[in-house]
Amino acid sequence: MIRELHQKLVTGETTATALAEEYLRRIEENDGSIGAYLTVMREDALSNARLVDEQLKRGETIDILAGIPGALKDNICVAGVRATAGSKILDNYIAPYDATVVEKLRALRGTILGKTNMDEFAMGSSTESSAYQKTKNPFDGERVPGGSSGGSAAAVAALEAVWALGSDTGGSIRQPAAFCGLVGLKPTYGRVSRYGLMAMASSLDQIGPFGTSVEDVAIVFSRIAGHDTMDATTAEGGFGKRFEEYLTGDIRGVKIGVPKEYFSENLDSQVRDFANEALKRFQELGAEVVEISLPHSRYALPVYYILMPAEVSSNLARFDGIKYGLRINDDKDSLSQTNSLLETYLDTRRIGFGNEVKRRIMLGTYALSAGYYDAYYRKAQKVRALIRKDFEEAFEKVDVIFSPTTPGPAFRFGEKSEDPLEMYLSDIYTVTANLAGIPAISFPIGTMKEGSASLPLGGQLQGKWFDEETLLRVADAYERKTASAG
Ligand code: GLN
Repeated sequence: MIRELHQKLVTGETTATALAEEYLRRIEENDGSIGAYLTVMREDALSNARLVDEQLKRGETIDILAGIPGALKDNICVAGVRATAGSKILDNYIAPYDATVVEKLRALRGTILGKTNMDEFAMGSSTESSAYQKTKNPFDGERVPGGSSGGSAAAVAALEAVWALGSDTGGSIRQPAAFCGLVGLKPTYGRVSRYGLMAMASSLDQIGPFGTSVEDVAIVFSRIAGHDTMDATTAEGGFGKRFEEYLTGDIRGVKIGVPKEYFSENLDSQVRDFANEALKRFQELGAEVVEISLPHSRYALPVYYILMPAEVSSNLARFDGIKYGLRINDDKDSLSQTNSLLETYLDTRRIGFGNEVKRRIMLGTYALSAGYYDAYYRKAQKVRALIRKDFEEAFEKVDVIFSPTTPGPAFRFGEKSEDPLEMYLSDIYTVTANLAGIPAISFPIGTMKEGSASLPLGGQLQGKWFDEETLLRVADAYERKTASAG
C-alpha cells in the first residue's frame, strides 16, 4: 500500500495534503465508533503534508514514507503532544521531547495523524485496561482489537492510518495484529531505540510497526531501526538497511521449525488446521518443515509474569505525583500538613493507576522483596537463560520457527477481563520472543467463522537475533502465494 501511495505522490496523482485530509476525514467519520485514537494531530499532520507537497513541487526526491499517514501508540512521546499511555495518572501530561523513532519519522516527513489507545502502560491483551475508552475490533464491534497496542491495530485495520507503531513487551504488537488481520513486527531487542518510549519492562520492550502488508512493515521498520546514543541497549550498526529490498519471494531451502510443545493436544483444532495449512503453503514454496523442541517453553508464561511485573514495579515508581502528570492534594499547604507529601504519593497512585497496573506493581514488589527475591526473581532469570538457550540450539537446525500467534481469534469484551489469569494465558505464544530477545512477526493465515463473525487468525514466525531479513522474506513469500491463490 505504501509503495502505491508513494507512486501516486511522485506522479502527482494525489498530494500529501489530500492524503492527510482523506485519513483525517475517515478518523472524524469512523473513529467515534472504533475508538482507536486518543489524540488526533490534525494541524501537525497537515503542516507536514504541506512540506512534502512543497518538496515535490520543487522536484526533490522524497522518501517512500514521506507524506504517508500513520499513527503512534500513546506511550511514544511526541514533543508538545499529550501522552497518556492509557493512564489517568498522565491525563494532563505533555511530552517534552520527541522519541527517537519520532525524530526519525519526522526527518523523512512521515505524516503523523495522532496517538492511539492502549492498555494502561501497555499492560494487557485487549486494550480494555485503558483508562479512557474501549477500542473495537473493526471486524466485529463486540470484540476486542487485542492489546496492548489495540488502538494502533484498529486504526490501520479500519483504514484510519496506513501504518502505525506499537510497542511489544510480551506480544502487544503481534497479538493485536493477529486479531485485526494485519502484519505486525516485534524487532530484535536492541534493534529500535526505546528513547522516548514509556518503559513498561525495559528488558523486554521493543517498538515495532503494523501494516496491511509485509512490505509496508519492512518499509516502516527500516526507517525506525538503528543504533541510538540515547539508548545504550541499542545495537551498533543497523543504519540505512532497507529491509524491503530483501523480499525476493524466494524461500527455497529455508528451514522452518515447528516446536512440538506449541502444537500439543491443547491447541484448538481449528487453529491447528489453519497452522497446518500455512505449513503446507510454506512447503509448496520450497521451504523445509522440521520438527523441533523448545523444552523450556512451558515455563515462558510464569517466567514472564514474574520478571515483567518486577520491572514494572521499578519503572512505575517514577509516577509519584511529583515528577509527572497527575498530582492529588496539590492544594494543601504542605508545610502545615506533616503527612502531606506521603499522602500525595499514596493518593496520586491510588487514584491515578488502574487495577491491572496496581496488581502488577504489587506482584513485582513481592517478587523483588528480600525474602522472595531468590525464590522468584533470581529463579526466573535463570529459567529465562534456559529459554534463550533453547532458541540458540533450535536456530542451529532451523532458520525460523512457526506457530500460531494466539490460541484463538479476537475474544469478546469482558470475556477475559474479569479473570487476569485467563487474559495472561492468551500470551502463551508471544512472550518467549521477548524473553529471548529475538525478532518475531505475525501475519494473517486465515479467517475463522465464529457465529456470524469472520475473524482473522495470525501465524507467527520467530527468527534469529538481528535476522529480520529472513523473517520478513518468509512472511512476504507466504503473503504473495496467498494473494495469488486468491
Ligand atoms: N499482554 C501482555 C501483558 O499483558 C503483553 C503486553 C505487552 O506486550 N505490552 O503483559
